Amino acid sequence: MSTAGAAIFSTAKQIGRHGLNVTKYDWGEMGNSVAIGAFVDLAGGPLGAAAIVTTASLTNRMIDPDNHNKLGTLNDFATGGGIVDFCGHTLGLTNSAFGGTADWYRGNVSYSGGFMNFVDGGGAFGGHAIFVQDRQDEGMIAHEIRHVQQMEKRGNRAMYMKEYVKENRGISYDAPGYENNEYEIDARYSQFLKNTNRIDVYGNKKGNWSNKSVAAEFRIWLYQNYPYNSFKPGGDNDDWEWGESFQHGEDYTHSFFGARVK
Ligand SMILES: [Zn+2]
Repeated sequence: MSTAGAAIFSTAKQIGRHGLNVTKYDWGEMGNSVAIGAFVDLAGGPLGAAAIVTTASLTNRMIDPDNHNKLGTLNDFATGGGIVDFCGHTLGLTNSAFGGTADWYRGNVSYSGGFMNFVDGGGAFGGHAIFVQDRQDEGMIAHEIRHVQQMEKRGNRAMYMKEYVKENRGISYDAPGYENNEYEIDARYSQFLKNTNRIDVYGNKKGNWSNKSVAAEFRIWLYQNYPYNSFKPGGDNDDWEWGESFQHGEDYTHSFFGARVK
């Protein structure tokens, strides 16, 4: 069933994004919503559909050659992440009844439209179920996919969320630590790189550039587009640049069985 789920999503994505792409009226988006709705019906409702998508997601994450944290993916799934994903997909798929769409990104599903039209803001991380306001905003999708990679590197969602909230000093976008949250800066960096066509949506590098060479441009982008003034010249973060030894990128330390993994 998992392969079928992936195939249906892939078809839905094709129809939604390319196959019926009429510019005057957004039939493409409607086509996707209709296909997702049909998939939910065929699966016997949102719960059945979410079970298929959760299984397809895990399968896809485990065979994705770009996933360098497969043990983390598996560990996260086994320690409760699978249940959280299931809930996220149930919500996202239910959204198709309200015109919502779903796009498949190698085991990550980006849900847009429907309820999301009423959400003021870019995107939200819900494990492998991600929610973005604007379906075409691939920078925001790259941002959320980067959070998935951080989580997979961490290998345990509860621990990841605990560390994230600690960095953030709260859960909202105006929490005192949000501007300096290393997980967020890292995800914003992916968003910036995608917006400037330096990576694909999965974070794979395109073209010739170095983290050092784009650092200043990134900092300007942060304070011109967002109120992150600490990245301005003279601010606390005015020398920030992405480090290869970024601590949240390499901290998957415990397997499902408690052994240290590196
Ligand atoms: Zn974020």
